[in-house]
Amino acid sequence: MAQQEETFKKIVSHAKEYGFVFPSSEIYDGLGAVYDYGQNGVELKNNIKRYWWDSMTLLHDNIVGIDSAIFMHPTIWKASGHVDAFNDPLIDNRDSKKRYRADVLIEDHIAKMEEKIEKEVAKAKKRFGETFDEALFRETNPRVLEQKAKRDALHERFAAAMNNNDLEDLKQIIIDQEIVCPISGTKNWTDVRQFNLMFSTEMGSTADGAMTVYLRPETAQGIFVNYLNVQKTGRMRLPFGIAQIGKAFRNEIVARQFIFRMREFEQMEMQFFVRPGEELNWFAQWKEWRLKWHKALGLHNAQYRYHDHEKLAHYANAATDIEFEMPFGFKEVEGIHSRTNFDLSQHEKFSGKNIKYFDPELNESYTPYVIETSIGVDRMFLSVLCSSYEEQQLEGGDSRVVLHLPAPLAPVKCAVMPLVRKDGLPEKAREIVNDLKFDFSTHYEEKDSIGKRYRRQDAIGTPYCITVDHQTLEDGTVTLRERDSMEQTRVAVADLHKIIHEKVSLTSLLRKLA
Ligand code: ATP
Repeated sequence: MAQQEETFKKIVSHAKEYGFVFPSSEIYDGLGAVYDYGQNGVELKNNIKRYWWDSMTLLHDNIVGIDSAIFMHPTIWKASGHVDAFNDPLIDNRDSKKRYRADVLIEDHIAKMEEKIEKEVAKAKKRFGETFDEALFRETNPRVLEQKAKRDALHERFAAAMNNNDLEDLKQIIIDQEIVCPISGTKNWTDVRQFNLMFSTEMGSTADGAMTVYLRPETAQGIFVNYLNVQKTGRMRLPFGIAQIGKAFRNEIVARQFIFRMREFEQMEMQFFVRPGEELNWFAQWKEWRLKWHKALGLHNAQYRYHDHEKLAHYANAATDIEFEMPFGFKEVEGIHSRTNFDLSQHEKFSGKNIKYFDPELNESYTPYVIETSIGVDRMFLSVLCSSYEEQQLEGGDSRVVLHLPAPLAPVKCAVMPLVRKDGLPEKAREIVNDLKFDFSTHYEEKDSIGKRYRRQDAIGTPYCITVDHQTLEDGTVTLRERDSMEQTRVAVADLHKIIHEKVSLTSLLRKLA
């Protein structure tokens, strides 16, 4: 773990050093859990968004997009349940004065119990070698069974406490399990309290009678309140989906782990409206499609798993997370939820308007059921960054840091470099840039040795470097260097466009999904 923490620190500083992510308001010592994206970060982020948007709106002829406002009528948040129930259970340690989410402390404790089981298994595997029967060991080893029973009992008690909103029992679990504050190491805990995560502000001048409005904590409600507008104006028939990308805001209690948990972040959400009774089939379908979307990126060392929810929100009848193995463990990157007709029914109730769908095939009106896919852009960004980062030892004692970004997501697609700054090579290189720049984000690089220039491009994940030398002037060929293999080939300038396009176009990625 210590080594992974070390790697994570390096990734965070790499992100800053190479213009991906900066702490917000840094010259004023930063603002907690708020970050800015730099010149390379914004490109990577836009490419992730484009991949998601196109996969939704181009590949599905029954999905369209919208862009709703961040401010919405405050009653929307009453109807959605956020005003009354968008809470996290918080607890303070009196000695360190640090604040924690009680549920996260317990979840981390459960994860440690699981680690112990895995350690037992790994130890036995080493001891028994080839003859080791892992399944049998897991079923029969007394130490594993004991740990597993403890884990299961705790899990069950924790799920019940969360479901019943039993704050006293959450605290009691922390005491019974002897969970200590990671900073002070003590068990000097306050009671557990609920904390609402929505930011609020005033709209209008006080003289007019200002109204309290909220910064949206999710983009989904903007879709729900517009679903009938879209359905009618787009003459959509069920099943159909509405996609949206936009900012969301949550006053997170514990905001650590870089851009994993931010107070201002971005979501890509799609609500898929279906006939009542068909929702669980669609849920299974979207679960599969979404994992396929992640896997199509072919991320270096990437690990995913589903985490089905045992504790379901009161409105959901199925929910799962797609978790990704970050350097700090498996974490949720995307949620897929079967939200029944809860949200639409609530808006019908609170607005007093009829927002039912008329189904021409069944000749009846009803409130559609909804499958939601909800992914955080920033968490996706982090998973791409973490799995792409590699420190490589090269032959001859040299080393490099390389980002193996999926080529269609890379901020810069190619860098053109004159070998020397004379003899007409810069002019030739500029000419190539001026041709490629209409289709690809292209850099011109002439400072420092070629080796250093390659390293700089490796560090931001540029798939191709193109070197212009004296031979280029004679026969119209250049050296094309590929990022991951570092292989260099001689190709004609006239072929560059085609070669680069094949590697970096989003189309090749989207085709994997079709
Ligand atoms: P968590 O349990 O980690 O707080 P959540 O279950 O509250 O997440 P959802 O409400 O399902 O998250 O939001 C959907 C997606 O939005 C998440 O999968 C995540 O990618 C992203 N997201 C949620 N909260 C944050 C945050 N504070 N910072 C960055 N991304 C977030």
